[in-house]
Amino acid sequence: MEKKLVARDIASTSHPSIGARLRRLVDSLLLWRLPTPLDAIAFASWMPDAIGSWCARCGTSTRVALVGADGACSECRGRRFAYHSVARLGSYNDPLELWVRLVKSNGWKAMAQEFGVLLAARAPPVDVIVPVAMHPLRREMRGIDHAGEIASSLSQELGVPVCRALSQCLSRRQMGSSRTARLLNAHRFRLNRRANALVGLRVALVDDVRTTGSTLQSAAALLREAGASRVDALVVAVRDANQEGADEALPMEATRAAEFQPRSRG
Ligand SMILES: [Zn+2]
Repeated sequence: MEKKLVARDIASTSHPSIGARLRRLVDSLLLWRLPTPLDAIAFASWMPDAIGSWCARCGTSTRVALVGADGACSECRGRRFAYHSVARLGSYNDPLELWVRLVKSNGWKAMAQEFGVLLAARAPPVDVIVPVAMHPLRREMRGIDHAGEIASSLSQELGVPVCRALSQCLSRRQMGSSRTARLLNAHRFRLNRRANALVGLRVALVDDVRTTGSTLQSAAALLREAGASRVDALVVAVRDANQEGADEALPMEATRAAEFQPRSRG
C-alpha cells in the first residue's frame, strides 16, 4: 500500500505567547546586522565539505579517523547505530560553528533555510523528513526551532514532507549537561501519534550538530521502533572526537548506553 503524507496534515501548529512574539520582534530588529546567508558564505570563502571527507557511517572527519574497507572508521568500528548513515556540511569549526550558534541564539532563520538547501544536495533517497524535536518551552524561549527550520527548507528542496513524529520529553537542558550525562540521558524523546505514518518509510533525520551522536542514536532508535525501514541522518556539522568540548575520556558504560540494541516490536 502506497503511503502518502501531506505536510499540512502532520505539521504541528503553535500559538506563540506575547512574550515570545515580543522576543521575535526584538530579534528581528537586531537581525539587520546579519548578512544574507549567501553573503556570509561568500565573505568567509566557505564551501561544504567534499563528499568522502567524512565517515559516511558516523560522520567523523576522515582527517581525524581512518575509514577501512568495511566502511567503518577507527571511531565507529564495532559500534552499532540505529541510523544507517550520516551526511554533513562540515566539521563544527568556524565559520560553520558561528553560523549554527547565530541560528540558535539570534533566530537566524535565513541561514537555517540555507542549511536545508545545502543538505538537500547530499541527501539519500528518502520518503519523509523528521527533525530532531525541541521541547515547546525551549522553542518559545529561543523563538526558533532550528532543526525544524532546516527540515522545512530541506522538504521544499526535495519535495518530501516533514513529519514531526518525535516529541522531546521535559528533562534537563542538553546544552548545560556534560557529554556523559547526554549519553546516559537516552530517553529524552518519545514518539507521538504522527509516528504511525512512518511504517515502511525511509526517513531523513535532521539536526544541526552531531556531538557525541547520542541524540541521533536515541531519535533514530525510536524511528526504527515506529517502523521506519531506514534512517539516514543529515546534520549541518559534526564535532570530531578530538575537538574542544568533546570528552575523549568517556566511561565505557556511557559509550555502551549509546549503542543501538535492536528491539523486537511487540
Ligand atoms: Zn565512523
